[in-house]
Amino acid sequence: MVSEEVLRLEDVEAGYEGVEVIRGVSLTVKRGEKVVIMGPSGSGKSTLLKVAVLLVKPSRGKVFLDGEELTSGSVDLRKARAKTGFVFQSYNLFPHMKVVDNVALPLRIVKGYSKEDARRTALELLRQVGLAGFEEKYPLQLSGGQQQRVAIARALAMDPVILFLDEPTSALDPELKAEVIDVLLDVAKRNIAMLAVTHELDFAREVADRIAVMEHGKIIEEGPASKILDSPSTERVKAFLKLIR
Ligand code: ADP
Ligand code: MG
Repeated sequence: MVSEEVLRLEDVEAGYEGVEVIRGVSLTVKRGEKVVIMGPSGSGKSTLLKVAVLLVKPSRGKVFLDGEELTSGSVDLRKARAKTGFVFQSYNLFPHMKVVDNVALPLRIVKGYSKEDARRTALELLRQVGLAGFEEKYPLQLSGGQQQRVAIARALAMDPVILFLDEPTSALDPELKAEVIDVLLDVAKRNIAMLAVTHELDFAREVADRIAVMEHGKIIEEGPASKILDSPSTERVKAFLKLIR
């Protein structure tokens, strides 16, 4: 069954060692839909992304990914996660491996590609993120923006139904942010769903079908980007937006 929803969280609670961090969140992301999560530091945004692939296990509620209930206990989580791509604030590239191999490795390990096919696909993905000519370099020979674009290429290599982005530009100097945002704007044109934690308002306005604002482990407001950014209903969202503008 092909579900129109690639991600569905139903009244999820989750946390660490008994401390509740996600306190009753329901959220859906449809095929190709782009959802942006905002909210103050510590509100549970990163944890929510981890819950979506059960890297953090919910203590209650249900998680569905691409029509499969991950919380049922009978799903191969490794297989399920292989349908997703993750881009973190820190790029998490292997420093001892060339750029092309950083992208080719998951194709070989997760997708079972031959060495030649993995390399060919990796080269094409690197071209798509504007890194033709950098394939044989090592990550530390690249700028932060370029490293993050390698991480995006690697995430796209999974051919994901949903791409999770956790503050992909917040570790970058302002002049490097733009190049990463440009690549993400390009990626957003594809029919890949995105669940992105970001405080980049211009990016959110351009890309987000919906914005959800979190506070203390709950979604306190959710709606179309223009509604949330221009006329939020709650004082708390107004105050938060004032802080990040
Ligand atoms: P955000 O991404 O919105 O800043 P997080 O999801 O990272 O929020 O964190 C939410 C809360 O969970 C914070 O209080 C944080 O200290 C706590 N937390 C995050 N990761 C862990 C962890 N691995 N172990 C224990 N507590 C954690
Ligand atoms: Mg975070």
